[in-house]
Amino acid sequence: MGPIVDVVPSSADFPRQTEVVVIGGGIVGIATALALVRQGVQTVLLEKGTVAAEQSSRNWGWCRRTGRDIRELPLINASMQLWETMNQTTGRETGFRREGIIYSSRNEQQRERHLRWIEEARQYDIHSQMLGPSELAARVPGLTSSFAGALFTEADGRAEPQKAAPAMAMAAIEAGLNLQQHCAVRTIERSGGRVTQVVTEHGAINCQSVVVAGGAWSRLLLQGCGVEIPQLKVLSTVMRTRPLEADISSCVSLGSVAMRKRLDGGWTIASSATNVVDITPDGLRFMKQFMPAFKVERGALKLKLGARFVEEALLWKPGQADKTSIYERIRVLDPAPHQPSLQQMVGDLKRALPAFDGLQVAQSWAGLIDTMPDAIPVISGVDNVAGLYIATGFSGHGFGIAPAAGQLMADLVQNATPIVDATPYRLSRFTDGELVRAQHWL
Ligand SMILES: Cc1cc2nc3c(=O)[nH]c(=O)nc-3n(C[C@H](O)[C@H](O)[C@H](O)COP(=O)(O)OP(=O)(O)OC[C@H]3O[C@@H](n4cnc5c(N)ncnc54)[C@H](O)[C@@H]3O)c2cc1C
Repeated sequence: MGPIVDVVPSSADFPRQTEVVVIGGGIVGIATALALVRQGVQTVLLEKGTVAAEQSSRNWGWCRRTGRDIRELPLINASMQLWETMNQTTGRETGFRREGIIYSSRNEQQRERHLRWIEEARQYDIHSQMLGPSELAARVPGLTSSFAGALFTEADGRAEPQKAAPAMAMAAIEAGLNLQQHCAVRTIERSGGRVTQVVTEHGAINCQSVVVAGGAWSRLLLQGCGVEIPQLKVLSTVMRTRPLEADISSCVSLGSVAMRKRLDGGWTIASSATNVVDITPDGLRFMKQFMPAFKVERGALKLKLGARFVEEALLWKPGQADKTSIYERIRVLDPAPHQPSLQQMVGDLKRALPAFDGLQVAQSWAGLIDTMPDAIPVISGVDNVAGLYIATGFSGHGFGIAPAAGQLMADLVQNATPIVDATPYRLSRFTDGELVRAQHWL
């Protein structure tokens, strides 16, 4: 089971018509809907389960510029500004705090890479610094492991994943959003080169535009209306502890294990060294496109052949308007945590920081990350299908970047001046001859 998420009520009336339908009640869909309704656009958000039950409540909660792909820096800079006022915007506690993010450098080679990133990021007005071993020890007291240094961004922050998207959803409802939960979209219908309606399990909704923000489901949803995106899923495992005192305010990655303080006094702990990639039919289909990213990340990825191959081959089929779909059968994607990762992260943390020796695990969970070959998102219209927009493939970075990603998506839908240049995030980069490459800085 996933973490407990703040509950958001659905709207009373099921709409038959609207300007924009957003599919997906994760933080990206919600941020898009919030930006649209605040600009007076009639918007319906459809969620097959409940708000933020998938990736958006299961993540670490890091709002991070540190070590990001350079192409994402304008977007995350804009996002950090939106996070700064998110509690006022929503009138609620999202848990956002600017307490800094630290990525330790295990060796000289990694330290050099971190230094190069600092140089690159400076042109975006990001002033990260390299901490020496003693400065790292001052920020992470009691550290027993030795590191070559650490990449530190003081103005980075964190928020509470179980609170943030629900708070934004409540604010969007107050601004006019119609939210329908337990409402799976089966198909997106098009006619004469443009979208015309979505068909849900509760009936059809006519609309001018559709935004697909379906996280790990986006590829299947789009496949159903004839649009191909190269997207795979990566399993990442997390746990939270019971309240525990430790004098560390920043989010910290110590190589194999990462931690952040929670508002409830506990810690969210995760493996930053092990993610599991199930071999699936899509994995075989996109093997060539993902190979460069896989080579770069291979130390942190475990390939696994198991039940998911058969499940996806047999069950993960695009929906049909008049039949119960996979989206109704799996209301919430709730994969089992990877037990070896859990054991390893607890052991590594206790060895590195004796203050965590008495930690008690309150809960563990996993999430499936929607990943693109170049590990940056698609925030884009679709050539040749007027009114169809995509915001997906956030590749493990979408929580922090969501406020600005949602604003950018809303700008594209309205054909307004975009909050940042959307060119790097266009869907057509996979087909227009651009060399698709992932960057690896951390
Ligand atoms: C373990 C883990 C750690 C992470 N850590 C961080 C971090 O520290 N910082 C960071 O920035 N990012 C992090 N991420 C990534 C971040 O969580 C995601 O990028 C972000 O939450 C994606 O949001 P989303 O709205 O696109 O997708 P999701 O939150 O996955 O939401 C998609 C929604 O679409 C709905 N949906 C799908 N199909 C349909 C349909 N047919 N009809 C109706 N609804 C549908 C789903 O039910 C789901 O609720 C992490 C992710 C994981 C899994």
